Amino acid sequence: MRTEKDDKLKQDALHYHESGRKGKIEVIPTKSHSTQRDLALAYSPGVAEPCLAIEQNPDDAYRYTTKGNLVAVISNGTAVLGLGDIGPLASKPVMEGKGLLFKIFADIDVFDIEIDEKDPEKFIQTVKAISPTFGGINLEDIKAPEAFEIERRLKEELDIPVMHDDQHGTAIISAAALINALELADKKIDEVKFVVNGAGAAAIACTHLYVALGAMPENILMCDSKGVINHRRNDLNEEKLPFVRQTDLNTLEEAMKNSDVFIGLSKADVVSEEMLLSMNSNPIVFAMANPVPEISYEKAVETRKDVIMATGRSDYPNQVNNVLGFPFIFRGALDVQSTKINEEMKLAAVHALANLAKEPVPEMVNMAYNAGNLSFGKEYIIPKPFDNRLITRVSMAVAKAAIKSGVAKNPISNWEAYEEELLN
Ligand code: NAP
Ligand code: MG
Repeated sequence: MRTEKDDKLKQDALHYHESGRKGKIEVIPTKSHSTQRDLALAYSPGVAEPCLAIEQNPDDAYRYTTKGNLVAVISNGTAVLGLGDIGPLASKPVMEGKGLLFKIFADIDVFDIEIDEKDPEKFIQTVKAISPTFGGINLEDIKAPEAFEIERRLKEELDIPVMHDDQHGTAIISAAALINALELADKKIDEVKFVVNGAGAAAIACTHLYVALGAMPENILMCDSKGVINHRRNDLNEEKLPFVRQTDLNTLEEAMKNSDVFIGLSKADVVSEEMLLSMNSNPIVFAMANPVPEISYEKAVETRKDVIMATGRSDYPNQVNNVLGFPFIFRGALDVQSTKINEEMKLAAVHALANLAKEPVPEMVNMAYNAGNLSFGKEYIIPKPFDNRLITRVSMAVAKAAIKSGVAKNPISNWEAYEEELLN
């Protein structure tokens, strides 16, 4: 049902984008440019010197150009928000928005790149061809299953960090929330039974990461739009195959009985009160379909007092919001010239986020959210985006993991100076 509030938001959003300079980001020179001499240094003839230096030593690009602080946010517009395949041009506001978030949370500059190409091979070749410009690549809103192949190939074939945020951003933030929810429910990750509803980009990446954190594959049932992914299915793509289970269960309803954790990355309103009631005590329910979750926050907490609930929405507690991850993950990766964002770095981000939620919350954060006193508990299992400790905690953890796992080309040694730099 459309409300007056929704209509107002829609009008305000158009006005926000149109007012003043169109769109949401701009390019600003970083060197003086007021004299003829400045221009002779910035451009011809002086500019030839850094060109020649980089020709001799490609890593000098990090010294003389923006490469080391520049991320490409790249999409073909095939899976934009919950809007579907709206095409590259119509995806541009989202990609600019991601640029804004990178900038305000981690001071990373972004070029948003919308590519008119659905064929994975041609898309891969296009991204590879433009990759010299960038220190990192954030793939965004690209449809599954093509997104899996695109990300896998680009990671293999490029020597800069590549991350498909719809997969791994979601996995990292929800995993942090999961660790803390399990602690509150007094349950162990290697003992709990999971139901993952959805088998798309987000659900598959999340499930792989939960297994890396200790979840037992045999305790995970995954469902897609046709029901439980079991041995009788003969319609499965390659990415779903690792989740095939020998079971007679066919429906979500059957799968949810006596489960401990429900992960929803599927569609609105597919979980009923009865299904929730059939779960074990202290159930963990992450209903992350956007903008309307698999079961609403109100309905879930009304149905069961013992539920620990998260959604993708900002208007309820425990928002699984990717902005808690990508700015800081790329910050840490860029600052050590990491060639990858690998599993070790993702796990480091997970633990940094989970640990931060257990620390006392600064007054500034309480004020930003008008939230009284936030403290670790059922209604606060992950940090809030406007927590200014994220930049140091997550970026430093990721940078350290890059160094330790041997993918950092330019390791940091003075961590105090680095922390200082991050705060300024
Ligand atoms: P996707 O790649 O298109 O995958 C959607 C998956 O949902 C598909 O596997 C599809 O099944 C499945 N599905 C559709 N209807 C279903 C039903 N009734 N029961 C069970 N599964 C069903 O999309 P995605 O990027 O993974 O995103 C999925 C959802 O999660 C979206 O609502 C998105 O907004 C949300 N999301 C939230 C966050 C967040 O909260 N931070 C982050 C990422 C995504 P088939 O494979 O059979 O088609
Ligand atoms: Mg996205």
